[in-house]
Amino acid sequence: MGNKELELGFEKILQGNREWVDFVKKDESGRFQQLAKGQSPEVLWIGCADSRVPANEITGKKPGEVFVHRNIANMVIHSDMSMLSVLDYAVNVLKVKHVIIAGHYGCGGVAASLSRQQFGVIDNWLCHIKDVYRLHAAEIDAIENHEDKVNRLIELNVKEQVFNLCTTSIVQNAWKDRDDLAIHGMVINIGTGELTDLGCTFTNNEDLGEVFAYK
Ligand SMILES: [Zn+2]
Repeated sequence: MGNKELELGFEKILQGNREWVDFVKKDESGRFQQLAKGQSPEVLWIGCADSRVPANEITGKKPGEVFVHRNIANMVIHSDMSMLSVLDYAVNVLKVKHVIIAGHYGCGGVAASLSRQQFGVIDNWLCHIKDVYRLHAAEIDAIENHEDKVNRLIELNVKEQVFNLCTTSIVQNAWKDRDDLAIHGMVINIGTGELTDLGCTFTNNEDLGEVFAYK
């Protein structure tokens, strides 16, 4: 690499790994040897790709305890094969018990969706958040402070993504056989670290509305 700064940044990543290897070597619990054989996490976390919202740290979970999918603004898009594959594997193979959609206040993706500015290819992804705004336009428009507007849309977006998750065939088919699969919506306050439950947990398809609930 010709660029010294770039080289130094990469070296720090490798150094970080050497420190992690030392930590793993010193661990005498045998948990890393156990993890090398397989995983059985109880939680699937679908969060924002934002670097400030790491699933494990926020929930106090160790390696092996959370299966994670992250994208811009923690979206559940029904044609997203990456998300669907993660969900299918988590629910049907790993048999996770909790799926958490985790949004966060100050989300740049949601803020961008409330502007008329073009950002490139991501605009087509953000259109899904504009659709959530369209469902709640009256409520959002009535909020004067822009930051409050964005933060309210962040909460509403999480609830909408919980609904989207519940309406997948994957979750509904799992509910036919199991009563131990809960879908939750939560929001993170980066400044305090607090994770707030938005009170929109589903454990069956009874409240999805007739056309959404598969027989
Ligand atoms: Zn975000």
